[in-house]
Amino acid sequence: MDDTRHHIVVHYGELGLKGRNRPVFLHALMRNLHQALSSLGEGSVEQQSGRLLLTAPERVPWEQLEERLHQVFGVANFSRCWTAPHDLEAVKQAVSRALHGRTFGSFRITARRAFKELPWGSQEISRTLGTHVLETHATRVDLKNPELVVHVEVIPRRTLIYVEKTVGAGGLPVGTGGTLLGLLSGGLDSPVAAYRMMKRGCQVHVVHFHSYPFLDRASQHKAHTLARLLTRHQYHTKLCMVPFGEVQQRIVSAVPAAYRVVLYRRYMLRIADVLAQQLGAHALVTGESLGQVASQTLSNLRVIEAVSTLPVLRPLIGMDKAEIMAQAEAIGTYATSILPDQDCCTLFVPRRPATRTTLPDIEAAEQALDTPALLQLALEGTQRITCDFPEVPTSASREAALEA
Ligand code: ATP
Ligand code: MG
Repeated sequence: MDDTRHHIVVHYGELGLKGRNRPVFLHALMRNLHQALSSLGEGSVEQQSGRLLLTAPERVPWEQLEERLHQVFGVANFSRCWTAPHDLEAVKQAVSRALHGRTFGSFRITARRAFKELPWGSQEISRTLGTHVLETHATRVDLKNPELVVHVEVIPRRTLIYVEKTVGAGGLPVGTGGTLLGLLSGGLDSPVAAYRMMKRGCQVHVVHFHSYPFLDRASQHKAHTLARLLTRHQYHTKLCMVPFGEVQQRIVSAVPAAYRVVLYRRYMLRIADVLAQQLGAHALVTGESLGQVASQTLSNLRVIEAVSTLPVLRPLIGMDKAEIMAQAEAIGTYATSILPDQDCCTLFVPRRPATRTTLPDIEAAEQALDTPALLQLALEGTQRITCDFPEVPTSASREAALEA
């Protein structure tokens, strides 16, 4: 047994149900776990009888491992574990190590055998180890409502012992659900929307529309920080920074004020649609939620999405603002999202935006604009940034590039 390393057992949930695609899902999960821990030193990820076994250097604090593992979609739960060979005396010693320094009023042993070619059964393991714990700790057995559960899992070649399960992020491993392009403002909603699609196994690249030099770079910095936060879950993100101020100015000068916001959105989607094709994305994602603002009425959403050749996914459509805010807090994007900035949509916003536009009206209004020229203008000025997790040292210089 190698005691100079952390051993971690990872259980996967929904993933276990994926039938014939299971190897694909497992492979993605293993690759992602490997990537999540890659900067912490030499480690391993190994598949064993319906669970995964990980190792990491012991010098890495458990809290850091926990934080990293918590970000990996597809993990139902994980536990720090102790391992022993198929030998009850050795298992007893491992149980003692697992319980070292703990006090608990009651406990139970939960034994499972994924490997059955052994002379001892689950009952016998539980009895022997239960007696051992009673001999070494001032405690009692409580099968129904124990304070502590000692899990013992017998797998080929070894026995795993663990006492605490940390709930994982759930969902499906990133990379199994296809590629998307998320429209990422500096606000609260869009990062949560991207997160929810990553949780369903998608790789979500992002696009941000900014109004520099009409406004300062604050929204770009926020979008970059948000993209980096999201990258912790998918390891690689492409961020497209699209100059949108000129497009907005042309819209402002050519169409009725009440239509501006719907037109801004239609041009954003048109541009995103082109970028998505370039990035190999199969759908767009927005943070729209029904009725939240004037541009998010059902009739306006319909008019807006009419310009996209790709499906527009809106994972927050039925969520309340309070629910979205709670989720933003939970995923760590809230603090960045609420930083003050002038989003491009605060520029030239009409006092009374139309809440019920129709496609013929909007299309007629757009006749006043040279759409191909506007798209070309925005696409030509688009800057591409790459975010990686773990972050590579050059990210600082990329940030500096943004300032230039
Ligand atoms: P958010 O909190 O995501 O900014 P919001 O409630 O402010 O959303 P809107 O400003 O109407 O709503 O934006 C709706 C959606 O359009 C956003 O969730 C986002 O997906 C997209 N979007 C809006 N502004 C931008 C932008 N500047 N860059 C990229 N996408 C944007
Ligand atoms: Mg916004």
